Amino acid sequence: MTQHSPNGIFQDAIKRLDRAAEFAEIDAEALEKLRYPKAILQVSIPVRMDDGRLRVFQGYRVRHDDTRGPTKGGIRFHPNVHLGEVEALAFWMTCKCAVTGIPFGGGKGGVIVDPKELSRMELERLSRGFIEQIADFIGPETDIPAPDVYTNAMIMGWMMDEFSKIRRQRTPAVITGKPIPLGGSLGRDDATGRGAYYCIKELERLKDWEPSKMRVAVQGFGNAGQHVARLLHADGYRIVAMSDSRGGVFRADGLDVPRAIQLKNQGRAVGAVYGTRSVCECPKCGGEDCNCSRDDTATGEVFSNEALLELDVDILIPAALEDQITVENAAQVRAPVVVEVANGPTTSEADQILAGKGTLVVPDILANAGGVTVSYFEWAQNRAGYYWTEDDVHQRLQRIMAQEFNTIYQFAAEKQIDMRTATYAHALDRIGEAIESQGTSRYFANSIEHSEIRQN
Ligand code: NAD
Repeated sequence: MTQHSPNGIFQDAIKRLDRAAEFAEIDAEALEKLRYPKAILQVSIPVRMDDGRLRVFQGYRVRHDDTRGPTKGGIRFHPNVHLGEVEALAFWMTCKCAVTGIPFGGGKGGVIVDPKELSRMELERLSRGFIEQIADFIGPETDIPAPDVYTNAMIMGWMMDEFSKIRRQRTPAVITGKPIPLGGSLGRDDATGRGAYYCIKELERLKDWEPSKMRVAVQGFGNAGQHVARLLHADGYRIVAMSDSRGGVFRADGLDVPRAIQLKNQGRAVGAVYGTRSVCECPKCGGEDCNCSRDDTATGEVFSNEALLELDVDILIPAALEDQITVENAAQVRAPVVVEVANGPTTSEADQILAGKGTLVVPDILANAGGVTVSYFEWAQNRAGYYWTEDDVHQRLQRIMAQEFNTIYQFAAEKQIDMRTATYAHALDRIGEAIESQGTSRYFANSIEHSEIRQN
């Protein structure tokens, strides 16, 4: 076990509780409980590398709150993983599960590693080694991991297999986002992007948007970013800019999204596990700075990631990492609508700047909740041993996303508050109800009075 991190991103994340609590039915004690993660596990993972050396990686698993059900949340492999980040991500998961009403609390995990530097076999050993270290902390009824940044279905399959070996029992419900033949759910791979897409479709209906007139910029072109871009592109939205860790591309009349996805995911060394190529590369020859003519529809002007956030577009979709819109650049964000597919892309100070400008922000705990919602479907299917069709999954997800989006949108309009505050208030209502149903000081203090009355 390790110490709760005293400051940083987690403290920034929980700042949003106080403002939202003004509009929620939540007892002060329940709110206090949410300020602390329930449990933190820090582990060291020794991995034998291909050249015979031993490397020891650091990893974390945090369970934030399990009042509404087992904790649920992804595992991230990234060089910048740190405890405060994992705590914040676990806190957001608690809120996110409450937003969509699924019976889970929030958890998260992370390993400090640049997985692109590992071979496939090293990656498998690391994935299995992490599970070996956290096996007593997770389980279908306690804490259920899933993919996050730089982890994917194949890694989830390795992890489920390792856990099953340790327990000597096939346990598919311990982890979600698995490959379909290993108990994954149809519709899980694009669920995060699809959930955000359903939110945008509700906005389209409410604001009477003409898709072909809508210019969209997507920061981060991984699992989440690719799918929301693909679905919007298929409906006629113009995806004018996209970026990944190596930079971005822009084309005023719209980029060829299916082509860009194909390019990004074409295999190189670990291509079966990661999209190791970049949206900035030329699809003809694969070179970043080639001299091929730039007439291919997938390519455009190459520019920086930072510039993408400040483009004159109608919808900005941050779908990479946290802390992208900050006090430094929030004033320069020109998009009137921001749909947060990444977790925590906007800091709390930047939030106020955006709110002050009237930017409509569909917050992460709503916009990217499609992923955990279909993870819940996967867990339910694993436990029932009965599998749904892709149509079933899409319809159920669409129903939940549209319903929760509209409830929150109307609440925000009624109370004249921003969508983020309204979304947190909506989550706090559900979490508060669960915590309070176990009793608060109001209940217990009354019971003392009652027992005194009885004794008298
Ligand atoms: P991923 O690993 O599939 O993709 C991450 C993408 O971000 C890659 O294209 C990478 O090149 C890009 N990237 C990394 N650093 C960047 C930078 N500085 N600027 C621009 N791009 C950068 O990860 P993912 O699963 O798509 O997750 C992306 C975000 O969505 C994360 O914040 C994650 O927590 C969130 N999210 C993911 C899921 C899910 O189901 N995958 C669910 C909910 C939330």
